[in-house]
Amino acid sequence: MEETILLVEDEPGLRITISDRLHREGYRVETAADGQEGYELALRSGFDLLILDIMLPRRSGLDVCRDLRQSGFTTPILMLTARDQTADKVLGLKLGADDYLTKPFEMLELLARVEALLRRSVIKTRSPDLSYSFGAIRVDFRSTEVVRDGVPVELSAMEFQLLRYLIEHRGETLSRESLLQDVWGYAKAPTTRTVDVHVAWLRQKLEDDPKQPRWIVTVHGLGYKFTG
Ligand code: CA
Repeated sequence: MEETILLVEDEPGLRITISDRLHREGYRVETAADGQEGYELALRSGFDLLILDIMLPRRSGLDVCRDLRQSGFTTPILMLTARDQTADKVLGLKLGADDYLTKPFEMLELLARVEALLRRSVIKTRSPDLSYSFGAIRVDFRSTEVVRDGVPVELSAMEFQLLRYLIEHRGETLSRESLLQDVWGYAKAPTTRTVDVHVAWLRQKLEDDPKQPRWIVTVHGLGYKFTG
């Protein structure tokens, strides 16, 4: 099946270069030239992936990302950021982007990220269980809602993907490298430290005592194991 990508980029040259290349790789591509148009298009059609520039006229990529996620939009989002805008990257990930790429980038790097994000979302839609409970936590895979004692827990898109993966591989010892490969979708960058940071965040949100975790335990020298 042909996968459809929405590209929101205001620079005409880059918009054409990226969409031509994606098209040649066999993807269907639709484009928007500003944030407002991109937001409306994203909500209207069933895209498999959204490539979203941050600096956009009418509505910034960060606003678009936040508003889409708040309206329940679960499609993977790849952010494009200008060099030296580290704050934007961090904020983008917090607002629900799944990955980011710094301009200027190699087209092959973009294609690798696109493939990784699409592969991840295929695994996601194949997941047979619609919800999973452990302790006081209930995870709804369809709405991506997590509640603890009936109270909603706010997870970033990445934290949710990690939690989903842990649940799907419960009882298995998972190395940081394999988590990075399978959850983030690429082994090179960022570092395995990223895994530790996200595990720590999940523990903060889900464990009664994050320092003595019951659900996401450390397997010394090997990685992590979900015991729920
Ligand atoms: Ca721009």
